[in-house]
Amino acid sequence: MKILALKVDVDTLRGHREGVLNLLNLFDRLSLKASFFFSMGPDNSGKAIVRIFRKGFLGKMLRTKAPSTYGFKTLFYGTLIKAPMIAQSFPGLLKETARRGHDFGIHAWDHVKWQDRIHKLPVTTIEADLRRAFDLFYQYTGHQPRSFAAPGWQVSQDALLVLDSMRLRYTSNTRGLFPYVPRWGRKAFSTLEIPTTLPTMDELLGRRGLKGEEMARHLASLLKEGLNVFTLHAEMEGLSQIGVFESFLRSAMDQGAKCVPLSFVADQIPRDELPRCEIGIGTVEGRAGTLAVQATEA
Ligand SMILES: [Zn+2]
Repeated sequence: MKILALKVDVDTLRGHREGVLNLLNLFDRLSLKASFFFSMGPDNSGKAIVRIFRKGFLGKMLRTKAPSTYGFKTLFYGTLIKAPMIAQSFPGLLKETARRGHDFGIHAWDHVKWQDRIHKLPVTTIEADLRRAFDLFYQYTGHQPRSFAAPGWQVSQDALLVLDSMRLRYTSNTRGLFPYVPRWGRKAFSTLEIPTTLPTMDELLGRRGLKGEEMARHLASLLKEGLNVFTLHAEMEGLSQIGVFESFLRSAMDQGAKCVPLSFVADQIPRDELPRCEIGIGTVEGRAGTLAVQATEA
């Protein structure tokens, strides 16, 4: 049996405002449920432009047509244009996601700040930012968040400690092969981690120049027996790539794959049988920089 768990990251105001609703409608049409992870605070996407100077980013930016994917204005949020507040601009969308029966949690308070600086942020800042995101989430939905997915698969030991204290049902912070409980150096953590197992569309674009139907077919061919976890972005698969994403989902379902939210995976896993795995810093083909990976070899 193939299981395809769908993890939707919402990074920007545009993704939140336009992409989320498109995805909700697509999932309704296909009668499936997914997990949404919301960026709750400021959209500082413009600051990510600084990353242009990091190796590999400019090429990726041009290949993925970032200005048309993210919207021209988005590229200046937090620099030339004051950073708009994402969840506050359209709070009804969080409730709507819940109303339609999807699993949902927190992606970040400030996506760019977390992705670029998590390794340098003090525990107090990580805690304060997460608290703000969690409080706003509660204010808009009446539910405490039960899950978290780290921006850009970036985590630090301090971040994992803070997340452990929040008593979440699961996190999805890393790239890997199967669910586990993390260890990092001498520190053992307690929250179930469900890693992303499949490459993302932008990585495939960067790695092999795949696009359109070819991309959809390739992604579907990567599905294995058992659990597959796919990360998509509201600003990409929810907007310009929605047709390709729908083709991928349809071919996955044609293969008999069952599409589920990550909460379904968390519910199915017997907690006492979970393996403990080390988190390491690694790279993924087609993506610039390093990220947190599950180390599966002893
Ligand atoms: Zn993200």
